[in-house]
Amino acid sequence: MSETSHGHDELDECVAALTQVHAFLHGELLEADADVIRHHLHACERCMENFEIESTINEMIQRAHRVPKAPASLSIRIESLRIQR
Ligand SMILES: [Zn+2]
Repeated sequence: MSETSHGHDELDECVAALTQVHAFLHGELLEADADVIRHHLHACERCMENFEIESTINEMIQRAHRVPKAPASLSIRIESLRIQR
């Protein structure tokens, strides 16, 4: 008897969704692909949980990268202070 693995369809969808979550978060997916992910996340609690964790991490990383740099004038002042010493 050959075993058809219909029961695995759902899991495959989850794997596919999770492998694309990063691209989805970074806005790198085509709108059609992003829609598939969105649909799956709404339908699948486990993936939604994973997505929320990923998106929280993603937000934290983006915030860390967005730390404002010291304005140029301030850097120049610091440089001149260093030279004077
Ligand atoms: Zn899922």
